[in-house]
Order: sequence, then C-alpha cells, then structure tokens
Amino acid sequence: MLVKTFTFNDFQENTYVVSSNKKCIVIDPGNYYEHENHELKEYIDGKGFNLEYILLTHCHIDHILGLKYLNDYYDTKVYIPSKEMEMYKKSEEIALAYGLSYYDHFNNVHCMTSDFSFTLGEYKIKVIEIPGHSPDHFGFLFEDSKVCFSGDVIFKNSIGRTDLPGGNHETLIKSIKGELFNIGKDVIIYPGHGPKTNMADEIKSNPFLV
Ligand SMILES: [Zn+2]
Repeated sequence: MLVKTFTFNDFQENTYVVSSNKKCIVIDPGNYYEHENHELKEYIDGKGFNLEYILLTHCHIDHILGLKYLNDYYDTKVYIPSKEMEMYKKSEEIALAYGLSYYDHFNNVHCMTSDFSFTLGEYKIKVIEIPGHSPDHFGFLFEDSKVCFSGDVIFKNSIGRTDLPGGNHETLIKSIKGELFNIGKDVIIYPGHGPKTNMADEIKSNPFLV
C-alpha cells in the first residue's frame, strides 16, 4: 500500500492518493488550481492507476474542491458522510463566500454511514465516526497497515477547529479520546492539514489532549 500526499489550495489541504498495485482511491480531493488538477491527474495516469472511488472525511469546502474535475475524467463513485449532505448541498454558496470562484459543484455523490466498509485490493478500510469538527466527520482506518486518514479531527500537536457550523468541542474531544485513542498507538495518522503523525505521540504530548 502506497500513500501519496498532495497539499492543495489556499487552505493547504492534504489530498491523499492511496494505492495498491494498479488500483487507487482518492481521499479528500482539494485540487483547485489548474496546475493542481494536472499534478493529480498526471500522478494517477503516470502510475497507470485505476481510480476506484473517492472518499470524503467531511464536506468542508477545502476538502471537496477537486471532486468535479476528478469525476469529469474518471467518472467514479464519491462517498460522503450521510449527515453532511445538507452542508454539501450548500457548497456553491460557501465557495462563493470564500471567493472560490472556480468552484464547480459535483452533484452525484453517494451517502455513506459508519457501518460501511471498503476495500482497496487486498486491504480492508474501516469507517470510523469521529464528529466534532464538522457534523458527521469520518476517518478511514486501514487496520492491517495501521494507517488512518482522519481529516481535520487531530493534527500533529493540535486538534481540529470547532467554530464552524456543526462543530462542537466536547464532541471532538470525545471522538478523539473515545475512538482515535483506541485504534492503536502504532497507527500512523494522515491528517487533513500538516504533517503526518502517530497516535502514541499525540496521546503522550498533544497539548490539547493531556
Ligand atoms: Zn474541515
């Protein structure tokens, strides 16, 4: 299993391409500018990958900017947390408020719930529900590889903001301590922003959690 990290758009959002042999998935496509679109497409095509589907940890605008572009090329399935559909439907309005005038909305998304599970080749992906930063935030755990894509819930030495609509600090802390603290100390965390980390370090020294 190979993880490729791109950091895209003005929010410095991490877009992940996870691959196994010739199959890949994209988690949180934040590609926005033309050169970012090309960089992502050239990577996928250059490796000869078949894009199987796209997963969203949550529907904040910086995590969804590249959906339309990717689907125009690859015509694949997009899964979003079901309780974030209302927010997703307002994306054009939100993009406008942030001055993201190139934003092009992709309508044909599928809702997922936390009892969904996915596969990438031989790898199983467990969906974990970790709300608090946004109404219904999900993490994607590759249990065998000990890797978790956890969006904007936890960062290296930091945690996600809770001041946006649907955010709640207590809920966020509960998600981290109740869910993420139990996925295993040796699990590597690939967050929505900033460098990767691991649960052992965050349990030990994240100033927001001690
Ligand atoms: Zn976010």
